[in-house]
Amino acid sequence: MTRPPGSSRTSGPARRPDTVTSDDVARRIAVLLPTGFPGLATYLIPSEQPLPPAGARVAVPFGPRLLTGLVVPGEPDPAPEGTVLREVLTVLDEEPFLSESFVGLLTRAADYYFAPPGELLRAAVPARLLAAGTAAYVPTSRAVGAHPPEGLTGAVLTEVLTSGRATALELGERLGSRGLGKAIRLLLDAGLVRIPSEELRAARPPTTRSFAARGSADDPRLARRPGQRKALATLAALGRPASGAELRAAGVSAGTLAALAKQSLVAVVEEERPADAAAHALPARATAPIEPTAAQRAAIDAVAEALERGGEARFLLDGVTGSGKTEVYLAALERAIALGRQGILLVPEIALAPGLIRRVVARFGSRVALLHSGLSDGERSAAWERGRRGEVDAVVGPRSAVFAPLPRLGLIVVDEAHESSYKQAEAPRYDSRTVARVRAHGEGAVLLLGTATPSMEDEQAARDGRLPRLVLPARPGSRERARVEVVDLRGEAARPGDHGRVLFAARTVELLRGAFERGEQAIVLLNRRGFSPALLCRSCGHDFRCASCSVARTYHRRGERLLCHYCGDFVPRPRACPSCGSEVLMPVGFGTERLAERFEELFPEVPYAVLDRDAAARRGGAVRVLADFESGAAQALLGTQMVAKGHDFPNATVLAVLDADALLSFPDFRSAERTFQLVTQAAGRVGRGERPGIVAVQTARPEHEAIAAAVAQDHASFAEGELRFRRAFGYPPFSHLLLALWTARELPEAEAAARAGRVAIAGLPKLRLLGPAPAPLERLKGLYRVQLLVRSDSREALAAAGELLRSLPEPPRLDRDPQSLL
Ligand code: ADP
Ligand code: ZN
Ligand code: ZN
Repeated sequence: MTRPPGSSRTSGPARRPDTVTSDDVARRIAVLLPTGFPGLATYLIPSEQPLPPAGARVAVPFGPRLLTGLVVPGEPDPAPEGTVLREVLTVLDEEPFLSESFVGLLTRAADYYFAPPGELLRAAVPARLLAAGTAAYVPTSRAVGAHPPEGLTGAVLTEVLTSGRATALELGERLGSRGLGKAIRLLLDAGLVRIPSEELRAARPPTTRSFAARGSADDPRLARRPGQRKALATLAALGRPASGAELRAAGVSAGTLAALAKQSLVAVVEEERPADAAAHALPARATAPIEPTAAQRAAIDAVAEALERGGEARFLLDGVTGSGKTEVYLAALERAIALGRQGILLVPEIALAPGLIRRVVARFGSRVALLHSGLSDGERSAAWERGRRGEVDAVVGPRSAVFAPLPRLGLIVVDEAHESSYKQAEAPRYDSRTVARVRAHGEGAVLLLGTATPSMEDEQAARDGRLPRLVLPARPGSRERARVEVVDLRGEAARPGDHGRVLFAARTVELLRGAFERGEQAIVLLNRRGFSPALLCRSCGHDFRCASCSVARTYHRRGERLLCHYCGDFVPRPRACPSCGSEVLMPVGFGTERLAERFEELFPEVPYAVLDRDAAARRGGAVRVLADFESGAAQALLGTQMVAKGHDFPNATVLAVLDADALLSFPDFRSAERTFQLVTQAAGRVGRGERPGIVAVQTARPEHEAIAAAVAQDHASFAEGELRFRRAFGYPPFSHLLLALWTARELPEAEAAARAGRVAIAGLPKLRLLGPAPAPLERLKGLYRVQLLVRSDSREALAAAGELLRSLPEPPRLDRDPQSLL
């Protein structure tokens, strides 16, 4: 593990008199702690204790706190002269909790992404499973009649007996911490105290709490408590137990419920929660068994062979939209399971994959677990533990599921492998595709990257022969890919009041109308939520920028407010312009709210549903919207790029991309690639059933190569031109990138720090530096942002630059292999 120069590898900031100095190397262990500590910590194992195995959890003192960490294999680095090491308080696992290779995966990823290893630990492992360090000790039945031991050990036991339960921290406060660890260990070993197992394992099945009425609202105790009386009456009227959320919506507070429960007027009922997968899947439906096509069979066989051979292997499943990639994933998972292995299926976003989850559940039933951030920590740790104990065959989830603790991992599938959501935008900024590759290598597993629009990185790797390509060239049966038609906006007349902008071109309306008249469904994509991208003052041009982000706020008619899409801050829509007082404020441009309004005007008879971030955040979320569209309750699906991702709706035949140019003008070298991917993926949503599909692509730049290639649905020719551009300008895949970003309240401050950063690494070999320059998003959340883009052909040279930047007095935020340069 490499550490930033100057960071010591000691065990926390505080030096206490109870610590021990020792040069006994064999008794020192390296511990990975869930903190921002920039390296591994070193602790001592008392001589009477056996050394814990690598991957076991240990509870250790860290400053004034007690933390749970993982034992890292190998010798800890020698501690700097004079460092006082502290002792491990308790070894929590006799068997490794996680494998050596898993621990190694976390520390290697931390190194690679210049992140504190604890950040990766926290991203990977549910918090509950790392909370044992704060666990309380309770007396056992033996302790009650036991003859109390001498000295501190006896004092600890008495304290635990009298208080019923006490944490090590509490014991330390009362009795002092000198010798405390040893005393607790003696008591644990003698079976006089224990840590309640649920605190250690934290794997209770998830439950839901509900509340049931037991008394009557006429109870005399409530005579002066109108709130409680009303709450009880509400519950009684329901005639069934209700959840806390339901009651809160009815105006009953948690405090009121607690008060009622205390008087036994309300009973608290805990019930085991039904399987989580159901909530994230579309409603079940009967499907005929699928006979793989020859191309699918060849792909499945290639993966199966690699699985049987054992050891690491990688494949790019390059299959056009609707070619049946999912079938290949499922068959490959089946093969892995038949060989006694387990699999991970990564999806870009769980809420947008309910169709896929339905198919996975239909195939593997309760032997599959979902792991995602929508789970409570208790649910997540329960699912995690099922995986760790080998009780599931497969785990499905977004990027963090790459850390699913499967002991017999055989296959990692990455669906829609080109999606940038696989890279985490916040710290730790890991890319789960890279982690998956490292993990497959370390655990001898097969990595299968599936997509219709391979990233340029994967495309080049396939061309170089580093990533074998499995091709699904066509849709199964006689189904053709959708025909794509350019609708040139330049010849189109705008509606009065639309400032020259066109939302629906005449040809697009004609195509949509055709679909609705034939009883088919249509999808309309507009890549902007809210009503309009800006509210403009007609007299002076004031555009209501977010004060802390310097971008125009988006006008949302729902709630009548101006929302900053970058920081989430909003203000009520003003009546008049703050600069000139004019009351003529006009929404300019289009968002999904305005799209829905226009759609209703054009097609008043057609029931529609909207899918964007706002809709996904509402009750029922994306799954409900997608289920409505699948059932036909909605004949049209309107929304942002969320409507273009992976869905399989056989009755959808027409799709309109209203503003194909929106992404093109992004100041990012990947803007052409993103545009090509979006349009191609969108085109892939229609014509998946019996009837052919047609796609209208509205653009003012039909000759742009990304648009032209997407219209032709020709990935190879797009890649040809795009790779030439990347090579000429030295962008990935022909270089590796490191984005360093400095922020400050004042611009000159950020600029000075960035210039110092550039000077610091200017002498290093094999680097090309771009900047420093203000970031495209120059100001965000009140901070100015200045960035330096570091490029290199050599990963080692880039790593050296990162380490150096990280050790500066004003270290930048570092993003390795960035997916966004904003
Ligand atoms: P992709 O993920 O490549 O876009 P899907 O796996 O969603 O494609 O498959 C598209 C549609 O084709 C699905 O409705 C699926 O059931 C169907 N399908 C897949 N393979 C076959 C096959 N071999 N024969 C018939 N239909 C198939
Ligand atoms: Zn004005
Ligand atoms: Zn803002």
